Amino acid sequence: MKLLEERILKDGVVLGKDVLKVDSFLNHQIDPVLMQAMGDEFARYFSDKGITKILTVETSGIAPSVFAGLALGVPVVFARKHKSLTLTDNLYTTSVYSFTKDTTNEIAISRNYLDSNDHVLLIDDFLANGQAAKGLVDICEQAEASIAGIGIVIEKSFQSGRKDLEKLEFDILSLARIRAFEDGVVKFVEEEGNK
Ligand code: 5GP
Repeated sequence: MKLLEERILKDGVVLGKDVLKVDSFLNHQIDPVLMQAMGDEFARYFSDKGITKILTVETSGIAPSVFAGLALGVPVVFARKHKSLTLTDNLYTTSVYSFTKDTTNEIAISRNYLDSNDHVLLIDDFLANGQAAKGLVDICEQAEASIAGIGIVIEKSFQSGRKDLEKLEFDILSLARIRAFEDGVVKFVEEEGNK
């Protein structure tokens, strides 16, 4: 997605050898115009898949998911990473290793919001090694919900997540695919229509 690639080149900051900081439009400050354009893009690609629900992880998956949900006319459920006073039982839970924080979190969603009638679009802000996405897949399996596909804002194609998820035969749309960081400069995968 051209708009997103341009924004990454303009405002993204490469940290170390494999982390991209995009706090100015996605992970801290949020650009709603860009989020809406991304939500529309997800909705266009998955429009004929019979999606009933979008599932994401707090926090940074929520903004693009809400715009995709608005465009598709379906609710958005976000898995919580932190214990909540109001979300205590009747949960689906799974463990997710965090790439950026080097910690393992329990993520949880209420059983009230996902069940075997759902056909789910999974959305997340980044795809690195695929742990977050696999956690969401695990939650869908517990709920016996089917998975329509996976929408990713920024994929780092040099990490293992996409390959692992493709092996599981998921339909993945990544709006920006990063091939490499070369001397702190982002290089994108060169292709049209990046299924
Ligand atoms: P994975 O679970 O695919 O290994 O990593 C994806 C998760 O880690 C995302 O939910 C995202 O929060 C975080 N993440 C992974 N790589 C990056 C990165 O380069 N930049 C940022 N800001 N977050 C990342």
